[in-house]
Amino acid sequence: MEASRELNFDTLVIGGGIAGLQASLDLADQGFTVAIVEKDATIGGKMIRLSKVFPTLDCASCITTPKMASAAHHKNITLFTYCDLKSLDRVSGLISAAVTQRPRYVDPDKCIGCRRCEYECPVYVDDEEQGGFAARKAIRIPFSNVIPQLAVLDVENCMLCGKCEKVCPTDAIDYFQEPENFTITTKTAILTTGFDLTPVENKQQYGMGKIPNVIDSMQMERLLAPHGPYNRVLRPSDGMEPDSIAYVQCAGSRDKSMGVPYCSRVCCMYAIKQAMLLSGALALADITIYYMDIRAFGKGYEQFYQNAKAMGIEFVKAKVATLSEGDNGGVTVRYELQNGEGVTTRDHDIVVLSLGMIPGWNPMGVCPVSVADDHFIHTPLPKLTPTITDMDGVFTAGAASGPKDIVDTISEAGAAAMEASNYLFNLKNARKAVA
Ligand SMILES: Cc1cc2nc3c(=O)[nH]c(=O)nc-3n(C[C@H](O)[C@H](O)[C@H](O)COP(=O)(O)OP(=O)(O)OC[C@H]3O[C@@H](n4cnc5c(N)ncnc54)[C@H](O)[C@@H]3O)c2cc1C
Repeated sequence: MEASRELNFDTLVIGGGIAGLQASLDLADQGFTVAIVEKDATIGGKMIRLSKVFPTLDCASCITTPKMASAAHHKNITLFTYCDLKSLDRVSGLISAAVTQRPRYVDPDKCIGCRRCEYECPVYVDDEEQGGFAARKAIRIPFSNVIPQLAVLDVENCMLCGKCEKVCPTDAIDYFQEPENFTITTKTAILTTGFDLTPVENKQQYGMGKIPNVIDSMQMERLLAPHGPYNRVLRPSDGMEPDSIAYVQCAGSRDKSMGVPYCSRVCCMYAIKQAMLLSGALALADITIYYMDIRAFGKGYEQFYQNAKAMGIEFVKAKVATLSEGDNGGVTVRYELQNGEGVTTRDHDIVVLSLGMIPGWNPMGVCPVSVADDHFIHTPLPKLTPTITDMDGVFTAGAASGPKDIVDTISEAGAAAMEASNYLFNLKNARKAVA
């Protein structure tokens, strides 16, 4: 049997979101070699999928794409996308990671990203990158600014009609591609595996997945994005321009029944951001935010909140009990006002659930790093060295260790890179002393 390839780098970064990219760039600029292992077909994480970002309202892809490109073109960084981390352990003083390259069914050395396969493919399925509001092909470049620009074939939906193979100008389609196993050996690792949204499908009272115009906050990011599914904000069920949009805060955070008792920190701010963007996109629409408390914790965030109020966004301090299907495709919100005025209902055209954050990865069975009670990666010294884990030479940054906005994620990524850099220097000096 052919031995699996072994590749050597100074640092391994698991997760190519904004935390992983920043940490990798900081280390690579110091001369260290970095491998980024990303499970997705592209680097960029959630940030590349956002519309604009609070508190500055910068276009997310305008500020994320340059970081992605810098990492992809840096001579000291090697990207391994569409890869699964099978194990990460310490072996003879080094970090050894077993990684599997999943087949794209497209030869990465031949694909030129021309999309001719995508145009020719006859299969249409829901496009998860557009919140399920648009269709994609079975073979496709997932979205326009993916890095690397390589097509991916989704075997679940492929009819094996052969049309992509016929039109590919470089013979890149390979229906027989197999997974490839390889080992990455490094001296340090940084875990930047980010977050997922709280699954609320099981929370019956919100009707997610059942009431067509109840959507989640990431879906609203897509409706607001310049390259979104409709190029404007429309109601998913019937394409109507909405007159009234509501947000339900803490839908999936601060909720013990869902196993998420903590505050996810970013939901108040992203709901306010989206509400402001909606006010710009739909000048006549009423926008209401049902909230328990507004947590505007960062620099400039309180002012951002005050600006939203001044723009006419309505903040209703209330606990939302249920969402149900109203008349003409609307959604009825039943809520209890927190000023003691009792329970009442109101109809909206779209209701957005401000979902919280849960860990993007569970290391159990893969890596001996431990997790905290909230299931995010445990950081034993959160005050003075918040990026170290309980595994020697393994650091963490961003939403992998707890809910975080981009500002805090970037700062932590820099700190984790510095910890890794110190570790590498100390290791080098210790080796010199022994020699
Ligand atoms: C709806 C919404 C709107 C938001 N808007 C804003 C905003 O306007 N401003 C702001 O400051 N913040 C905002 N945020 C928060 C922001 O998205 C996060 O701060 C940021 O994405 C955290 O970056 P990260 O790299 O830590 O995690 P992620 O973006 O989650 O990236 C993690 C990466 O790791 C990969 N990964 C996970 N597990 C593995 C594994 N086992 N192996 C390999 N790769 C793996 C993932 O595929 C992903 O690419 C918003 C969040 C949401 C949900």
